[in-house]
Amino acid sequence: MKLLEERIRKDGVVKPGEILKVDSFLNHQMDVDLFNKLGEEFKRLFADRPVNKILTIEASGIGIACVTAQHFHVPVVFAKKAKSVNLDGEMYTTKIESFTHKRTYDVIVAKKFLSEEDHVLIIDDFLANGCAVNGLIDLIMSAGATVEGVGIVIEKGFQQGGRILRQKGIRVESLAIIESMDDRTGEIVFRQ
Ligand code: 5GP
Repeated sequence: MKLLEERIRKDGVVKPGEILKVDSFLNHQMDVDLFNKLGEEFKRLFADRPVNKILTIEASGIGIACVTAQHFHVPVVFAKKAKSVNLDGEMYTTKIESFTHKRTYDVIVAKKFLSEEDHVLIIDDFLANGCAVNGLIDLIMSAGATVEGVGIVIEKGFQQGGRILRQKGIRVESLAIIESMDDRTGEIVFRQ
């Protein structure tokens, strides 16, 4: 998506450790008009899929998932990072290693919000090694629900997550894919 690529070039800051900071429009301050255009694009890309629910993970996926859901007219469920998992059988749980914080979280979704009737679109802000998305897929599988696809705002194509998911046959649509980025020069190259 040209508009998104231009915005990343203008406002994105490449940090050491293969991190792209986009907190002026995506991760901290949120440009809701831009989100709306991204949501419209996700709807166009997944128009052929019978999506009845969107799943994301707190915190930074929630904003983009909610605006996207307005185009699908479906509810959003966000997986919660739990400090301690209460194993009372009411929740689906999995573990996710955070790329940015380098620690592992227990992540939960209440069973009443995910069931075998659900056709789920996963939405997240970034795709790096795929830990977050794989954890969400785990939760969907535990519920016996169907993964209809994965919509990502920014995929770092030089990391393995997107490749592995596509090899597994999962439909992944990323609105911008970064081929390479350089924290010394700030240069960002997008996949065509
Ligand atoms: P993964 O689980 O695919 O390795 O990483 C994806 C998650 O880590 C996303 O939910 C996102 O919050 C965070 N993340 C990964 N790479 C970046 C990055 O370059 N910049 C930012 N702001 N977040 C990232």
